[in-house]
Amino acid sequence: MHIPELANDVAEVLIGEEQIRQKVIELGARLSADYLGRELTLVSVLKGSLPFMADLMRAISIPVTIDLMEVSSYGGTATETSGLVRILKDLSASIEGRDVLVVEDIIDTGLTLNYLVRYLKGKNPRSLRICTLLDKPARRLVEIPIDYRGFEIPDQFVVGYGLDYGERYRNLPYIGVLKPEVYGGT
Ligand code: 5GP
Repeated sequence: MHIPELANDVAEVLIGEEQIRQKVIELGARLSADYLGRELTLVSVLKGSLPFMADLMRAISIPVTIDLMEVSSYGGTATETSGLVRILKDLSASIEGRDVLVVEDIIDTGLTLNYLVRYLKGKNPRSLRICTLLDKPARRLVEIPIDYRGFEIPDQFVVGYGLDYGERYRNLPYIGVLKPEVYGGT
C-alpha cells in the first residue's frame, strides 16, 4: 500500500508552528497570572487536544494537575458532530472544590463542550473555565463562554496539531486545510 507524505495533502497552512508556539506561551502566561497562588486542574479532551495540552502545561508556571477525558459523539460524520455525546473515558480523580480549566482543541457548534461543561459542573469544582486553541464561531449552535481563546478561524474544516480527518493528520505540526480531493476522494 502506498502511504503518501501527509504534507502533500495540505492545500494551505492556516496557522504555522511559530504562530502556535507564540500563542501557547501567551496563554500560559495569562493563566499563570490569573491563577497565581492557586493550583489549577487542566482537563483535556482526547484525542485532538493532546498536543495543545502538552504544550500549554509547559507554558504554565504555577502548579497544575492534569486529567484526561475522552468523549465521542454518536451519529456524526468525519466532519460533523451530532451533539449526542458519550463518555469513553471519565476523569480519574475528583475535581470537587478545585479550579478546573477545560483545555479544548476546537469549538465548532459547541455541542460537545456544552455537554461536557454541564457534566463537569455537576462534580462541584470551585471554578470552571474554558480554554480553546481554535474557535470557529460561524457554526455555533449553543452559547459557550470562552475564557481563553487562541485563534478565531473561518468556517473551514482544519487538521493538524492534534486535529484529524479519519484519524489521520494529527501529527502535522501546524493547522492546515486539506486539498478538496482528500475529502471527496475524486
Ligand atoms: P463541536 O461539538 O463544537 O461542534 O465540535 C467539537 C469537536 O468536533 C472537536 O473537538 C473536534 O473533534 C471536531 N471538530 C470540529 N471542527 C473541526 C475541524 O475543523 N477539524 C477537525 N479535525 N475536527 C473538528
